[in-house]
Amino acid sequence: MNIKSTSSHKNQEPESGFLYIVATPIGNLNDLSYRALNILKNVTLIACEDTRQTKKLMSKFDFTNNLTSFNKYNSFNKIPKIIKDLKDMKSIALVSDAGMPSICDPGEELIKVSRLNSINVICIPGPCAALTALVSSGLPSSKFIFEGFLPKKKSEREKLLLEISKNDKTTILYESPHRLKKLLNELKDYCGGERAIEVSRELTKKFEEHVGNNIQEVITYFEGKEVLGEITIVINGINKTNQKSKFAKLELKKELNELITAGLSLSEASKYLAKKNNLTKSVIYNMY
Ligand code: SAM
Repeated sequence: MNIKSTSSHKNQEPESGFLYIVATPIGNLNDLSYRALNILKNVTLIACEDTRQTKKLMSKFDFTNNLTSFNKYNSFNKIPKIIKDLKDMKSIALVSDAGMPSICDPGEELIKVSRLNSINVICIPGPCAALTALVSSGLPSSKFIFEGFLPKKKSEREKLLLEISKNDKTTILYESPHRLKKLLNELKDYCGGERAIEVSRELTKKFEEHVGNNIQEVITYFEGKEVLGEITIVINGINKTNQKSKFAKLELKKELNELITAGLSLSEASKYLAKKNNLTKSVIYNMY
């Protein structure tokens, strides 16, 4: 195990040779923390996803600094130079266009390689669309699954939709506005229209909007409307005792019938399926 303590909080920040992962606002520029601002002003170099976005932040907070672009197209080529700079005791801040770097944004690989090179990595926490949407939704927020953007490939997408439909934890998804309606209809097919959901649009911005309560109501709300802005979706988990989704229910019923046709008694088949799906026997029994 690689146990390493960093002295960052005792010394003045930023420290030489440290990589700082700095969260930046997801809309409202006032969400930049004092600590983040201090780091961005005083590091040797800021590695940013899009220099134009970071310049907006610098202009709002009236400072300049050295920028280098670090995005999904060039990050692999840039990592060796950044690691060298860190070893040469430069301090570097990594930012994305918005929110927490490395959450559906570049950064993961740089952080991994930095750690492998025994470089101190410190995260300056701050805005993240996923958590902002989750805690605003009122849905269970202590246990959740973050899936980011669903895959486009049909088979992978269907697999994940099925997992979401069966999961008892809250799921958080990112989606682009022009694909929102398609995704909502898919979620309805897999989870049923009754499943609780919250679509958060333009979080922290002037036209922030939260649309719920269930999938069908959200579909109806967006019908005939052009969806604009940035979207994060929070879907309630399944309530295993009495709210199996329509889809999962159909699947279970089918399996129950198959087991009975194969010769098991209703009681035996229910017991088997209850154990397999972590449900009570009576839930399965009553489906028959
Ligand atoms: N790293 C970012 C974070 O910490 O939230 C996420 C980056 S990901 C490339 C961008 C996606 O995050 C958007 O397509 C949208 O789904 C979500 N997002 C970002 N800002 C948002 C906002 N203000 N309101 C709602 N969703 C947002």
